[in-house]
Amino acid sequence: MNLKIGIIKGDGIGPEIVTEAIKVLDKVCDLYGHDVHYVDLLLGGSSIDVHGVPLTDDTIRIAKECDAILMGSIGGDPETSPWYQLEPDKRPEAGLLKIRKALNLFTNIRPAILYKSLKDSSPLKEEIIANGFNMIIVRELTGGLYFGHRYTKEVDGILTAVDQLVYNEQEIERVAINAFEIAMKRDKRLTSVDKANVLDSSRLWRKVVNRVHQDYPEVELIHMLVDNCAMQLVKDPNQFDVILTENMFGDILSDEASMLTGSIGMLPSGSINETKLGLYEPSGGSAPDIAGLGIANPIATILSAAMMLQYSFDLDTEARAIERAVEEVIAEGFRTKDILTEGHILLNTAQMGDKICERIR
Ligand code: NAD
Repeated sequence: MNLKIGIIKGDGIGPEIVTEAIKVLDKVCDLYGHDVHYVDLLLGGSSIDVHGVPLTDDTIRIAKECDAILMGSIGGDPETSPWYQLEPDKRPEAGLLKIRKALNLFTNIRPAILYKSLKDSSPLKEEIIANGFNMIIVRELTGGLYFGHRYTKEVDGILTAVDQLVYNEQEIERVAINAFEIAMKRDKRLTSVDKANVLDSSRLWRKVVNRVHQDYPEVELIHMLVDNCAMQLVKDPNQFDVILTENMFGDILSDEASMLTGSIGMLPSGSINETKLGLYEPSGGSAPDIAGLGIANPIATILSAAMMLQYSFDLDTEARAIERAVEEVIAEGFRTKDILTEGHILLNTAQMGDKICERIR
């Protein structure tokens, strides 16, 4: 297979962690007989430094010609970086929002995995996470409250703010289809999260999800209210396989789920559109506090590359080979500084990338 992959190295630790993910991709493509071609793209602070803006139209055009995009994180220290002296729409993060919109990335996929051998990092009690957990949160990313009409005005002399929450059935249907497809490749259990006891948009959400479910009868579907879901995640995270939810609920629940794993440097994410073109990136930020020290954990980015193979290229075996290599390296006790505990072996960023490459088969 020919893979044309856009690479956004990004800012801070971005270049260091993306370099390791490329190493791993090269190894797996070599082993499984795929031709991989990388196209460098500038986004965020590094684009501001060269072009004066965080994303150019030219970069968007080239990105659209790729099959998938792998990104390190973007942004700098808001207190000290000159990028944050610029107008908000010229800052690094504006480039990220713009590319997500330009590529119509409406489905965000965020796994929250607690490996058994890392369970000490979780803030949850041993009896709850004895076997670790492995769930995926599928979040609608381009609709809902964050994209609705908003304004603040004076009503009878009192300042009043309005944020509109709008969903239409097509927006719900397309993300639901992606979530059911993901569930079909896993344990075939889907929890759709809403607030249907209060919100009209949630009642429509439930209706459309039920309709899409008819095409996926093998998947067990449960509807859960968002407040209950927030509690259940802490009480018994193992009950979840795939969670599907709208934009704002997903924003909050995916952060909650990631904290339950206790290790931000381990968590990948991806966002896809209807053609499966996707942007894959670690869940963490650009970690300016450790940039250039060679100690960043590259695993989230390496697992993002695995997600890219699975979701944009349907290369499930190759994706699994990467995930298995990561699991083995962790189980053997190798750690980067952020996840190091007593009795384990400390590796730097490049050594971790090399160790994972060694285990790929
Ligand atoms: P952060 O995630 O960059 O850092 C939080 C803490 O986690 C830091 O102590 C950092 O050293 C650590 N950390 C994060 N990733 C790590 C890794 N791979 N290995 C080891 N340690 C890691 O969050 P922040 O400090 O709030 O934000 C820094 C910058 O990143 C800001 O400019 C912010 O806007 C940006 N950001 C970008 C994205 C993105 O590109 N999608 C996401 C979040 C934050």
